[in-house]
Amino acid sequence: MAERFDVAVVGGGPAGQAAALRLAEWGASVAVVDEQPRPGGQILRQPPTAFAVRGWMAGRSYAELRSQLERFGADPDIAWRGGRSVLGIARQPDSGGEPGFAVTLSSAEGVDRIAARRLLIATGCQDLAVPLPGWTLPGVYAAGGLQAFLKSQRIIPGERVVLAGTHPLQLVIAAQIVEAGGAVEAVLFAQPRAGMIAAMASAPTIALRHAGNMLIAAAAMRTLLRHRVPVHFGTLVERIVGEDRVEALVAGGRRWACDTVGLCFGFVPQSALPRMIGAEMRDAGAAGGWAALHDRWMRSTVPGLFVAGETTGVAGAPAAMAAGEIAGVGIAHDLGMIDEAAAERHAAAARARREGHLRFARLLDRLSDPRPWFPALDADTLVCRCEDVPLSSIVPLVDARSANAVKLATRCGMGACQGRNCEPTLLRLLGNPDDPGFASRFPARPATIADLAYVAARTTN
Ligand SMILES: Cc1cc2nc3c(=O)[nH]c(=O)nc-3n(C[C@H](O)[C@H](O)[C@H](O)COP(=O)(O)OP(=O)(O)OC[C@H]3O[C@@H](n4cnc5c(N)ncnc54)[C@H](O)[C@@H]3O)c2cc1C
Repeated sequence: MAERFDVAVVGGGPAGQAAALRLAEWGASVAVVDEQPRPGGQILRQPPTAFAVRGWMAGRSYAELRSQLERFGADPDIAWRGGRSVLGIARQPDSGGEPGFAVTLSSAEGVDRIAARRLLIATGCQDLAVPLPGWTLPGVYAAGGLQAFLKSQRIIPGERVVLAGTHPLQLVIAAQIVEAGGAVEAVLFAQPRAGMIAAMASAPTIALRHAGNMLIAAAAMRTLLRHRVPVHFGTLVERIVGEDRVEALVAGGRRWACDTVGLCFGFVPQSALPRMIGAEMRDAGAAGGWAALHDRWMRSTVPGLFVAGETTGVAGAPAAMAAGEIAGVGIAHDLGMIDEAAAERHAAAARARREGHLRFARLLDRLSDPRPWFPALDADTLVCRCEDVPLSSIVPLVDARSANAVKLATRCGMGACQGRNCEPTLLRLLGNPDDPGFASRFPARPATIADLAYVAARTTN
């Protein structure tokens, strides 16, 4: 028998926490499901409980997020369901036609289901995977992956790290690595510094209003300077070389010896679940990917399904928190727990905050736009690394102009990541602005054969 809740939230990051806290205030029964064992999301990815880490995620920029995380952890009315991956979601309206949902979860204990009257998807974003010659050598990471090791496992996964890409978050990650005692050989931006300054100068008011974000980047630069880490602009990564693992990165015509590379070209929303249930999506912007459409209450186009945080577009943690709060208020109103006037009152401040953060996010998108800087691929560069599909298998099919057609012909996108990594590259190669991308299917996350057999048996019985 499935556990039943008023609201199920998928994602225990800043957006999911903010929504759950709001809903619990009005007496809703709320379950928050996350594949991570502990809440926090990407930005506050927590170490295991057995680790005693002094000064974890210290600093003013994390203070508000940490305070929300503490309130979330201490709220007895929120049912935390960590260590569970959501494999699928389905509509399950009640006999009166009121919306309802079934959420299929997988954990070490097997498959489980929860039922809820409303569902909030707040699954965040992931690094944009950028193929280039050599990118599948051991020692190549998405920059966010390097950071995840640092934040949650306290591991620096290499002796000599080079970060390369277009997104300023690589400055912060490089600074975190050197502060943790690691060695960063260089941070390489593909775009020229002048272009980044021009983007900032085109929106001086927004840049000034969000001076806090600029200060974070400036502090990271100071740390890198202190540790003599060179930061180069106009230095496009061309290839990564090595026999059995990374030995060097070639960028700007020069060879940078290293054993670890972090690629940082931006982030794309995690969109599998809203797409699976038929929510309308939009092009997520410069880095690619799909963002869920929503109204001013964060309602998606599927009745009863709400979306918040980076599932709706990548805009940073404070914007995710604000969106989560609006969704919490919106759901409470939808369930009849508060009236419209109260809902408007409760959402007003969060809406204003979110608008400001979205303006800054658009500026950040402009100055980190990866599109002019994607490295050239060789014929044998793998586009889909799960199913070993090289560029040469895709080129003869580009006239099909459909991601699903290429998937059927080559298995590109059929592997363990279910296309999360190769889809943006494939869509770029196909160049068809009307292509909706891969059809998103159950399971959204890797599942065991036993889990699949269990689900199949329950579906057919
Ligand atoms: C690797 C990485 C590192 C980042 N580091 C920083 C940083 O240092 N500074 C910064 O300002 N921003 C960073 N960001 C951006 C940051 O993630 C966001 O701004 C913020 O965390 C977004 O909050 P959110 O609640 O929307 O999503 P998230 O914080 O990403 O939370 C989403 C949660 O959903 C869970 N989830 C996703 N899919 C499923 C599923 N199918 N089943 C169960 N659970 C699921 C995830 O485990 C995650 O905990 C990073 C992003 C990434 C991807």
